[in-house]
Amino acid sequence: MNAHSNANADLIVARPEGLYCPAGDFHIDPWRPVERAVITHAHADHARFGHRHYLAAEPGTGVLLSRLPGIDLQGLAYGERIAINGVTVSLHPAGHVLGSAQVRVEHAGRVWVASGDYKIEPDPTCAPFEPVRCETFITESTFGLPIYRWEPSQAVFDGIDSWWRHNAAQGRASVLFCYSFGKAQRILAGVDSGIGPIFCHGAVEPLNRAYRAAGVALPPTRLVSDIAARDKAAFKGALVIAPPSAQGSAWMRRFGDYSDAFASGWMRLRGTRRRRGLDRGFVLSDHADWPGLQTAIGATGAERVIVTHGQIEPMVRWLREQGLEAGAFKTEYGDDAIEADAAEAVGSVGNAESVKNTNSTESAASEGHAPNARDAADATNAGNVVNAGNTANRESDKQ
Ligand SMILES: [Zn+2]
Ligand SMILES: [Zn+2]
Repeated sequence: MNAHSNANADLIVARPEGLYCPAGDFHIDPWRPVERAVITHAHADHARFGHRHYLAAEPGTGVLLSRLPGIDLQGLAYGERIAINGVTVSLHPAGHVLGSAQVRVEHAGRVWVASGDYKIEPDPTCAPFEPVRCETFITESTFGLPIYRWEPSQAVFDGIDSWWRHNAAQGRASVLFCYSFGKAQRILAGVDSGIGPIFCHGAVEPLNRAYRAAGVALPPTRLVSDIAARDKAAFKGALVIAPPSAQGSAWMRRFGDYSDAFASGWMRLRGTRRRRGLDRGFVLSDHADWPGLQTAIGATGAERVIVTHGQIEPMVRWLREQGLEAGAFKTEYGDDAIEADAAEAVGSVGNAESVKNTNSTESAASEGHAPNARDAADATNAGNVVNAGNTANRESDKQ
């Protein structure tokens, strides 16, 4: 019905229910229920229950179904083109997590790309980010500030290995908190599994299964709950992967003597680790850093860029300095409260091991986030304090 709409009209617009393609009559990562949703990836702020039809990249369908069982889901191979109401749609790797995709939309000779979340660093657990040429690029900006520059991930994994090895030599467990979908599997694939046994929290293990089913090689892992609660010796020398919400909960008592650490892009902010009371912080993100965002945006050749979430104002400012047309969409992406809930819901579906101590979950959230906001604000010393606060608050448990 919209095939003859104005050729100059925007291919993707922001609607109250989510990003929307008027010509094709479909939404991208909508946060309210819609008829047809194209999903960039299975993180809970992008993939939600309630839509009638879902379209997602084939490699991510297993993970998506494990998080949203029973949805009407069509998988599409990366690069394959389909027509939706006369609009050509294809999905291209975003390098963020298994199955993550950028959505390329072509209509009346024009091309827009919506990226969802992305990173350009290599990650053995998902297909590498593919630059896609377009007129208009819709980008995230989670870490869109010059202070965010990631080390090569191998250096981070070397650091995790030596921490784990040291703890193992002391007869301690190494408990590493990280987001259970994406980050956990990337860490599993990256560490030296010869150091000792690896255990996972019940929120993590179902995702491991979905990754293995999709052909991603992960070392053997066991559920923490497979070990009797009194058997602390079983965890001596082990690496334990758990969601951030487990920190400070009663669930931790079973490990006896342990060292704890957090793997997140937010660990880049000085003071975050200390305020969370952790022994170590590893800076590891599934989002592009500041140079990565610039590289990715440049590679699209886009003349117009629209920023969806994260450090919106600094990114828009930088884009305009480059002579590009830049703006922002108001979205509901980057909400880690939803992510934490989802992680625990998955855990309790898989088994009964989700964190029951809601008290500790809340304190982990509030203690961890507010200081991050302050750090981010300090780091920018610019007019984007509110924005920095929002972002840090929302995403600090996630990546
Ligand atoms: Zn994501
Ligand atoms: Zn996101």
